[in-house]
Amino acid sequence: MLELYPWQQEIWQKLLQNRQYWRHALLLIGKKGIGKYTFSLQLAKSLLCHSAKAEHIACGACLSCGWFEQNGHPNLHCVIPEALSTDSVAITDQENRESSSLSKAKKNLSQQISIDQIRHLNDFVYLTSHQKGYKIVLIYPAETMTHAAANALLKKLEEPPADVLFILVAHQIQRLLPTIRSRCQQIVMPIPSVETSIMWLKQHGISDPELILPLNDFSPLSTYSFVLEQLSIPHQRFVDSIKQGKNFDPFALALSLQQTHLSTVVGWLQKWCYDLVSYRITGKIRYYLKLLPIIQTLSKQIDLIAYMAFLKELSTHQKLSHHPLNARLFLEEMFIRYSFMLCNK
Ligand SMILES: [Zn+2]
Repeated sequence: MLELYPWQQEIWQKLLQNRQYWRHALLLIGKKGIGKYTFSLQLAKSLLCHSAKAEHIACGACLSCGWFEQNGHPNLHCVIPEALSTDSVAITDQENRESSSLSKAKKNLSQQISIDQIRHLNDFVYLTSHQKGYKIVLIYPAETMTHAAANALLKKLEEPPADVLFILVAHQIQRLLPTIRSRCQQIVMPIPSVETSIMWLKQHGISDPELILPLNDFSPLSTYSFVLEQLSIPHQRFVDSIKQGKNFDPFALALSLQQTHLSTVVGWLQKWCYDLVSYRITGKIRYYLKLLPIIQTLSKQIDLIAYMAFLKELSTHQKLSHHPLNARLFLEEMFIRYSFMLCNK
């Protein structure tokens, strides 16, 4: 069941009360991890619902809501990059899943929205709708459209059919073509206050959210994903292996993590190395708080200059991890570099 987050109630009311002033395209903007995607789905569901309840909330019981929850509404077309696609796009929080290692490994799938995906909209947009009412095109994240895809969309925005509503969702509005931005009604999505975020995280069973929230850019959804990630089996494998110091086996770890999203694994190693370097310089760590005694021991063994250089190298690895490659070899090479520096000190 799709629900609005508490910090979205006010903007929901304002937006729906002013429905008569909407243009044919809405652009929801705001930083990652504040629930924009969930909001956009809830909006689509509400507009398609045959008997929306008070506050414009979808009834959840009509034929339209049934189709929606089974991801098969004929009047809704979601356009998202292949790498973010899921079998349950209508009922899952995509923003949350995106940063979660629990999502399926999506090797070699595009992170961008292609021109073909936009072209495929033609039949949907220009042919008659299945039922009366809106046809909705949801594009997420809109800034991942290739230049060609964005131009193809622009043509549709310039000559929009009357019964079609485009909902674009963007984390980084500056990466969208100005001509697309100007054709959309922009809606700045609210960022929850620290207090609201902490309350929401506690309600969802997260202990000590005050400590973790700042590590996740004060985003409650990213924080929630972060905690789930920490509890995941791949992350436990990573921790169990890396904490062995010089006895760490790079080949075994690469083998056991080759099905995990590469950028997620690089992120774990980045945080681990950050903590080793940070403890050595400042006596403090940020991420692996429960492993402080091990980090204290290991940080004395590292060559500080080499590790700082390695941290930079990991940023490059992070970029490469999004491109098609052999996952196991990629991880082996990275872990060998890490263990080599420990052994050579
Ligand atoms: Zn309904």
